[in-house]
Amino acid sequence: MSSLTIRLTKERITAENKRVINNDRTVDCNQLVPIKYRWAWNYYLDGCANHWMPTEVSMQRDIEQWKTPNAFTDDERHVVKRVLGFFATAESLVGNNLVLAVYRCVDNPECRQYLLRQAFEEAIHIHAFQYIVQSLSLDEGEMFNMYREVEAIYNKDEYAMSCTDSVLDPNLNTKTKEGLQTLLKNMVGLYVITEGIFFYGGFVTMLSFGRQNRIPGTCEQIQYILRDESIHMNFGIELINAIRDENPWVWEKDFEQEIIEFIKNAVELEYKYCEECLPHGILGLNTNLLREYIQYLADRRFERLRLTKQYGSSNPFPWMSEVIDLKKEKNFFETRVTEYQTGGALEW
Ligand code: MN
Ligand code: FE
Repeated sequence: MSSLTIRLTKERITAENKRVINNDRTVDCNQLVPIKYRWAWNYYLDGCANHWMPTEVSMQRDIEQWKTPNAFTDDERHVVKRVLGFFATAESLVGNNLVLAVYRCVDNPECRQYLLRQAFEEAIHIHAFQYIVQSLSLDEGEMFNMYREVEAIYNKDEYAMSCTDSVLDPNLNTKTKEGLQTLLKNMVGLYVITEGIFFYGGFVTMLSFGRQNRIPGTCEQIQYILRDESIHMNFGIELINAIRDENPWVWEKDFEQEIIEFIKNAVELEYKYCEECLPHGILGLNTNLLREYIQYLADRRFERLRLTKQYGSSNPFPWMSEVIDLKKEKNFFETRVTEYQTGGALEW
């Protein structure tokens, strides 16, 4: 495990000696340069270039629409609340896992630089949902307790966090096979399952409202969050693969099978959540299409993790990839056109 101790040495730190984790015998965690993992630094720069703040997005039209009695059907109001209720606490769960569990174990400075940036982005996302709930005058008690009170949401959160406690254990030793597998499984739970699967039922549903120019301020924020989350997940998968490459002994066949099952069960939980959110279907969405979409996403995640695709489903919502790739000046929600990009090109 990393420590803050600086050791007095005559030899300078070289990039070759750096590792993603378990650096204690080679280098300390305070020295960013020389950078070895250029990809981690680049993710940090990409995150900074995408900076945004929730309160810069106007909620005026959302407030007017939400107050209009006939502007939404009961089913539509139900799904909006379920999605916001899930995100209201999920972003906090992610932030806590990141700062308390992942950060502690990943002691490479350039990876930590990205983790610090990601942690701030999670704070912005937490802020965004607080801002949306407050703007729409939703019942705060209902929204922020939903992860305790709605079984389909509880099951997702509980599942993704199931291996976090063992990473928080001060006796965890990531130099052992069991210890490192515990860490990797928690990272899959955070980056692949929570950020890469559990967020997408909500993303696709909310952005379907946005495509009709409904609750446009909420959808604009969801769009920025989706953009941030894609980078989080891509960084996380790169981190998992880098740990695996540096510690090939950890990736045994039965561990690989365990990871595949871990992700496949998450797909089922996300499907159950979608059933809870959309019992009757709305806006051209129904649970069959959502299942296909979640399976399609899971296959993409499997490929990135160098695992075999499990489903072979196609993408029923090709417009979602356009949303992910859109720059703000092409925003089809016709909200205030803003370009927060402060430098560098957005390509990921
Ligand atoms: Mn987030
Ligand atoms: Fe995230």
